Amino acid sequence: MQSRHPTSAIVVGSGIVGAATAYFLAKRGIAVRLIDATAPAAEATGAADGAVSVASKRPGPMMRAALKGVALYGQLADEGLFAGAFKRRSTYIVASSEEECAVLEAHATALAGAGVRIETLTGANLTSRFAVLSPEARMAVEVHGEGHAIGYQIVHRLLSASGICVERGTRAERLLQDVGAERLTGIATNRGNLSADVVVLAAGNGSADLLGLSAVLTPRKGQLLVTERAPALNASMPGAIMSGRYLLSKGSQKAGHSAPARGLGLVIDPLVTGQFLIGGTREDFGDRQSNDIDAITRILTDAVTLIPGLASLRLLRSFAGVRTAVVDGLPLVGRIPGMQNGFIATGFEGDGICLGPITGKSIVQTICGETPDIDLSPFDPARFSSWGVAA
Ligand SMILES: Cc1cc2nc3c(=O)[nH]c(=O)nc-3n(C[C@H](O)[C@H](O)[C@H](O)COP(=O)(O)OP(=O)(O)OC[C@H]3O[C@@H](n4cnc5c(N)ncnc54)[C@H](O)[C@@H]3O)c2cc1C
Repeated sequence: MQSRHPTSAIVVGSGIVGAATAYFLAKRGIAVRLIDATAPAAEATGAADGAVSVASKRPGPMMRAALKGVALYGQLADEGLFAGAFKRRSTYIVASSEEECAVLEAHATALAGAGVRIETLTGANLTSRFAVLSPEARMAVEVHGEGHAIGYQIVHRLLSASGICVERGTRAERLLQDVGAERLTGIATNRGNLSADVVVLAAGNGSADLLGLSAVLTPRKGQLLVTERAPALNASMPGAIMSGRYLLSKGSQKAGHSAPARGLGLVIDPLVTGQFLIGGTREDFGDRQSNDIDAITRILTDAVTLIPGLASLRLLRSFAGVRTAVVDGLPLVGRIPGMQNGFIATGFEGDGICLGPITGKSIVQTICGETPDIDLSPFDPARFSSWGVAA
């Protein structure tokens, strides 16, 4: 039986989830080896928008987890670890059509039911609170107490604070299992075998190959844009904008490998730099190396329709990242089925910046035999039967 307090751990993947897991392990005095096939924050974490937000979460376990996730960001900012890297602001979910208004009203009810502080704004209230918003906006729900963080900055903070050096260019190739026991002894990598008391897989889309989960995990591309600095317009936005259609695109996105789909939902985030981050798409195809003019045109058209002042800004860059989605829309967090000392944390789709730190903390609490801060039972990997753990 595994000790409740392991002395050594291997974490595979140095995105935000792996970095947070490594940080919380190190805080307990557990010796951590954090390996990455490429480099820290090289995948989704380095190509995300960064909304630390309950506003967009599906009601239920994701919304409850996000509440804890946002609270942890606030706590770590107050304690200094995330100071200056977590910008506190509201999210305004904006509806411009009948359909969006109906979705927004239902969502506002769910948010309020979960204990989130919201305010519904229409007419003169909306215009006075958000003067730069176009008259196209019929109503908005202000979700208080949210924030924004750049994924790679958070990874840097976590790694610097824990003194962990990522072993770059080290690809996990398979798990090593104790013959006849429900235990892992370590992992095989392109640089040789590593052993430890505990193994945590936080490898994003790389988890599919390691665990035979290609029927469960789906890569989902997103395209984002960054403008030049516009301090006056930036300062006049009291928070981020999320279109009602964003909620639709997140909830209605088809999972799995069936017909290619492209969901478009608008998010406009005024960054601390004075720039704007504008997104984005949800595409179950494509690669992270490319943006396409159709997506960029549509995102910009939607953005200017809601914030006309953006029309005069220059676009500085466009980029893309690939989320890891799970077919049932919930992440995989917990024990690898049949393995006492093997854990997985992946499949956060568009929510991993928000949920990364709280997930890392909760996995470590589970490893140490404590009750985790978030209820992990809805995310239990054992809900899927197709596990091909390579031993
Ligand atoms: C366009 C876009 C916008 C987003 N916007 C938001 C947002 O606003 N808010 C939010 O909360 N989330 C957002 N997300 C989602 C968020 O970025 C992800 O959920 C999160 O970064 C996932 O982190 P991760 O650590 O699980 O995975 P990743 O960041 O993908 O990290 C996995 C790491 O594992 C490594 N790896 C893979 N395979 C192996 C292997 N075999 N061996 C060793 N290492 C391996 C990779 O190199 C990588 O560094 C967005 C994502 C995208 C793409």
